[in-house]
Amino acid sequence: MENVNITIIGAGVVGLAIAAELAQTRPDVLVIERHLSFGQETSSRNSEVIHAGIYYPAGTLKAKLCVEGRHRLYEYCEKFRVDHKRIGKYIVATNAVETGELESILKRGQANGVADLRPVSQNEIQEVEPQVAAQAAIFSPSTGIIDSHQLMKSLAYHCEDGGGMIIYGTTVTKIDPVHGGYELTLDDGTSSLNKVFSRIVINAAGLSSDKIAAMVGIQKPEYQLKFCKGDYFRVSAAKAKLVSHLIYPVPTQNHVGLGTHATLDFAGQMRLGPDTEYVEEIHYTVDPAKQKDFYESVKSFLPFIEFDDLTPDSAGMRPKLQGPGEAVKDFLIQEETDNGFSGFVNLIGIESPGLTACLAIAKKVAGLIG
Ligand SMILES: Cc1cc2nc3c(=O)[nH]c(=O)nc-3n(C[C@H](O)[C@H](O)[C@H](O)COP(=O)(O)OP(=O)(O)OC[C@H]3O[C@@H](n4cnc5c(N)ncnc54)[C@H](O)[C@@H]3O)c2cc1C
Repeated sequence: MENVNITIIGAGVVGLAIAAELAQTRPDVLVIERHLSFGQETSSRNSEVIHAGIYYPAGTLKAKLCVEGRHRLYEYCEKFRVDHKRIGKYIVATNAVETGELESILKRGQANGVADLRPVSQNEIQEVEPQVAAQAAIFSPSTGIIDSHQLMKSLAYHCEDGGGMIIYGTTVTKIDPVHGGYELTLDDGTSSLNKVFSRIVINAAGLSSDKIAAMVGIQKPEYQLKFCKGDYFRVSAAKAKLVSHLIYPVPTQNHVGLGTHATLDFAGQMRLGPDTEYVEEIHYTVDPAKQKDFYESVKSFLPFIEFDDLTPDSAGMRPKLQGPGEAVKDFLIQEETDNGFSGFVNLIGIESPGLTACLAIAKKVAGLIG
């Protein structure tokens, strides 16, 4: 049986960020990933937006780690040449009720430490984004976009450069607490099961993180994930050229998502989404029948988009701790000594802004394991 110091389950952006951080100062860091490459699940099925940290309730990990993570991420991207762009985002109000809500969004963002938000008049939006319909808006200059594949490649490199190891195509199927650590059973698709002893285990298994916690023996209802699917529709290339910033509506009250918005990628392509749909099973098929809903949800603020401009694109799955209609829940990032599992760290419910926050999450986890 192999003996390691730290095992990280999952090579999504969060697992890789933790591995890159820990491998710099700690020996024997091992990452185990069931797919043949990194980032095959949620980390490659998102909007690739570097969020400023505006919406999350003050004092939550989501708020703190987003703001801290955003600063770290911009520094990291500049230092290690990961493609990114501070493209900026407008949150647009199209009626009096939404205009009234902008004030509280602005205050919440400022309370979270997003210092550069500013209210924008109708005239100013007309000048900057003449195709967008809005009565008023907030501008967030530090919201950006990032090439998440490049980021993960860079993090994987820094893990291995620091002496860490990543094994792909291997699933953790069983975890037994043993004296001084944990024994992990691994299935790599061959007939023989391998075992690894690890002093510390970090569960960064995304959509399966509640199942990994249950494997070690923590079966709490508050750890149980609900899957909330987010679909995207692509906007025709000709129309994509008509805006130059990210354009978001005023979000719904319960923050299931941020509202169907327009994102741009490095190639200048525009996607609308993600919507929110709680599902029982994980699947990534986008129902073409949703085209009407997407069209309806953006036509008030993106009136230049016509029904026929939209085509089904991709989908992602949010690992949520809150069920439909429940109040927003925070990231669960916890060392489990209090539950009787010393040296076991759970990361559960790492939905948005997990990509933005990944480097701050990694630092927090490093602090938890001492
Ligand atoms: C629709 C959508 C849009 C989003 N947009 C944004 C955005 O614009 N900005 C932002 O900051 N965040 C965004 N997010 C959130 C962000 O994508 C996630 O927070 C982040 O990708 C989570 O990364 P992760 O590493 O925790 O999970 P994952 O990427 O899911 O990685 C977990 C890994 O664990 C592996 N694994 C699981 N079980 C096992 C096992 N038993 N053995 C071995 N390996 C295992 C999986 O194969 C997977 O690779 C969005 C999310 C969604 C769904």
